[in-house]
Amino acid sequence: MHIAKGNNLSRVKVTNQAAIKELIYHNGPITRIEIAKKLGLTVPTITANINTLLAAGIIREVGISEKKGMNGRKAALIDMADNARLFLGMELRGSMFRASIVNYRGKIIVSFKEDTPHIEYDKMLDEAQKHIGKMLDEVQLSQEDIAGIGICMPGLIDSEKGILKIHSGYNWVNKNVIQDIRNRIGYRGSIYLENNSCARAVGAQLFRKELTSGCKSFAYFYVSHGIACPFVVNDSALYGSIVGEGEVGHMVMNPEGPVCRCGNRGCLEAFAGEHAVIKNCAEAVRNGCAPILAGICPDAEKLTVADILEALKKGDEVVGEIINQALLYIGIAVANIENFVRPEVLLLEGSLFQYEPNQKYLMQIIQKNVYCAVQSDRTKMFFLEEDDFSGARGAAAVTIRKDLEDYIEL
Ligand SMILES: [Zn+2]
Repeated sequence: MHIAKGNNLSRVKVTNQAAIKELIYHNGPITRIEIAKKLGLTVPTITANINTLLAAGIIREVGISEKKGMNGRKAALIDMADNARLFLGMELRGSMFRASIVNYRGKIIVSFKEDTPHIEYDKMLDEAQKHIGKMLDEVQLSQEDIAGIGICMPGLIDSEKGILKIHSGYNWVNKNVIQDIRNRIGYRGSIYLENNSCARAVGAQLFRKELTSGCKSFAYFYVSHGIACPFVVNDSALYGSIVGEGEVGHMVMNPEGPVCRCGNRGCLEAFAGEHAVIKNCAEAVRNGCAPILAGICPDAEKLTVADILEALKKGDEVVGEIINQALLYIGIAVANIENFVRPEVLLLEGSLFQYEPNQKYLMQIIQKNVYCAVQSDRTKMFFLEEDDFSGARGAAAVTIRKDLEDYIEL
């Protein structure tokens, strides 16, 4: 739990207020008496905190409950004031930039995307600085209107220190991303850094409650250039915690398989990541054995996943074989995850899943490889719709979680 700095607040006061805010965020609209009961706190503690949060404008009364309140009268329902604060989330990669400004509920106020690749870390941040300025101008906001900034990136991240330890795809090592962004844009508020798959999991926890609420654990299987699957354990009534970074993309599926970007052989992402699928399809185009794909994109160097999916839908057989091989490895990996940790829910995001026959084939592979006879014990799986900004919103969600933990003086 984050402790407000620079004063002598007791940990209890800080923890209590954070718990109240988080409860309202996840369970609102809710009455004061329900908050007191759920948290086991005294009525004066609830009242003092609610009054402070109402005065700060981050919560509001939204109506009257049918149930009786503390004084025997019908009680007011309290919920977050969704638009009280705005948060900026960014996904930074060498290959692309995505950013969204969202409210407490992840509703997008404005988004921005750019797909120019940058191999140089500093150049990428220079561009990010320009994009942030443009975005704020577009909606006539200033940096003071932003309550926090979240950044997510692929690679190994030390989120406590705000350091990118390594991004193997670009050889970026030990980058102080938070400091480097702060130096460029001069933002004085809080900035947080998280791995881009973990940020997506936090986003799902905050903004996809219809899928994740009430489950004890969920995993977020994300296929992009790489593959990751962070695992979230909801070990309390409130927020859960992310266990590890879920680098399943580097699980070795076959020690004699193709060389992975990490240097090992036969990693999952060397078979099934988008890089691998594009590489295999490019080879098929060069060899003249993927005619439909070659018709869509004759230059093998410029192939995209969208071209490949189009060729698949139009019946390119070799493309179909390449994708099925990728889905086979993904299916085995997902079955292994289910066998190993059996999360209650598993969310799947990836371009390859944006085509129903691929979803069906994948589910068959999982079914075949999972060890479980009892259907009711199985992990529930949901394919997420394509969303260009799931990473940016996830990064904003990381900041919103921190915002809810920040103490407002009573
Ligand atoms: Zn690897």
